[in-house]
Amino acid sequence: MAATQSLEAVIVGGGLGGMTAALSLRHRGLRVTVLEQAPRFGEIGAGIQTAPNASRILLGLGLRKQLEAIRTEPQDQVRRRWKDGSIVGLTQLGDICKERYNAPYWHYHRADLHQVLTDACTDPAGPGPVVALRTGSRVTALEDGDSRRPVAVTDDGRHYEADVLIGADGIRSRVRDLMGLPDTLEFSGEMAFRALIPGDLIAADPATRFLMDRFQSTIWYGPGRHLVHYMIRGGEYLNIVGCVPCTDEVAERWTGSATSDDLVNAYSDWDDRAAAMLSKAKDDVLAFALYHRRRDPVWVNGRVALLGDACHAMLPYQAQGASQAMEDGAVLAEELGRVTADGIEVALRRYVDRRAKHAGMVQDASLQNKTFYHYPDGPQQEARDELLRRGFDGESD
Ligand code: FAD
Repeated sequence: MAATQSLEAVIVGGGLGGMTAALSLRHRGLRVTVLEQAPRFGEIGAGIQTAPNASRILLGLGLRKQLEAIRTEPQDQVRRRWKDGSIVGLTQLGDICKERYNAPYWHYHRADLHQVLTDACTDPAGPGPVVALRTGSRVTALEDGDSRRPVAVTDDGRHYEADVLIGADGIRSRVRDLMGLPDTLEFSGEMAFRALIPGDLIAADPATRFLMDRFQSTIWYGPGRHLVHYMIRGGEYLNIVGCVPCTDEVAERWTGSATSDDLVNAYSDWDDRAAAMLSKAKDDVLAFALYHRRRDPVWVNGRVALLGDACHAMLPYQAQGASQAMEDGAVLAEELGRVTADGIEVALRRYVDRRAKHAGMVQDASLQNKTFYHYPDGPQQEARDELLRRGFDGESD
């Protein structure tokens, strides 16, 4: 341990992937600086789910108390049919999930989860050196420093040299471009509406009150589109993700704003309860074009490596993008935590060997769900629903 305590890492990007990696490296004794382009650290106003694979990593970082204060625990995952809302599949979560996987399935407000990670990075009582967090630090160039040490250069000319540099800068990664890696982005043709609906509006309406039951995580399957919702902050909000064909405007600009009418209209011929729920969204609905990356196992160049959406952005049709980024951070820390400066390149190659194939399988499975979720009514949809009734255990956003 003593030899690795002096290793220094710079992480470009302070999203959920970058912050989990920073905390994981801190636990292994590395000195870490996170460079974030935004003026402050944070996350968008939306929900996020962590299945046991990611919850286990967060709990392993000593965050149980903090996570239990912000999480909502769904008791089931439910799949409904678009036309009448009938339940075609139900997987019990809650204690059964914890018994089966030794870790929970949890929902959070993204900002709460990000804050827990940020606080843990900077808690002076935590293990290892405190993580240095630098906002307003947009990295625009990489240079070579002394003894093969990489240097991140910000747009205002600051230089950050370290033993290892990690690009955790998201789907449009600048670090990836600077490494000279190919453009693997693909447009799915779909977009996601996102909205938070106050839980008290849901509870007050007899047509939607059932959505409070057991804090179920729910996905409705329909022709060419699907709809996901789950409670966060103990019922304070119902988080909505509606995946539909993308409009030209959102496709061009990547994001756009929308209204509750847009949301209702997108599901106009669905079960009435969908409209009853979606009409309660305020007019601050956001729309995000859904891009993903083709599988590409090259994540490393010398002492520079990628993690998260920068190397394996996937459709959110398994709710695994951030969770896979968290797995990256955990493995990266295991590998870097056991080497001295001379072993960094080997450690990074081992990191990719352990992660790229698995993340690639999750990318593929998420893409396959675009077809699986969206069958028009007919033989394939009936066969799918029969599978779900028999307990086939897919995932949702
Ligand atoms: P990001 O979160 O994009 O973070 C990148 C950071 O880098 C940002 O803070 C950015 O400002 C910063 N940055 C960018 N460029 C620079 C630069 N040049 N210099 C410095 N900083 C820079 N995943 C789940 O696990 N569970 C879910 O339930 C789930 N639901 C989803 C629902 C939807 C609708 C969508 C679209 C995605 C969902 N995901 C989910 C996926 C998840 O949101 C992403 O995979 C995850 O946020 C990626 O994390 P990241 O840290 O790799 O990138």
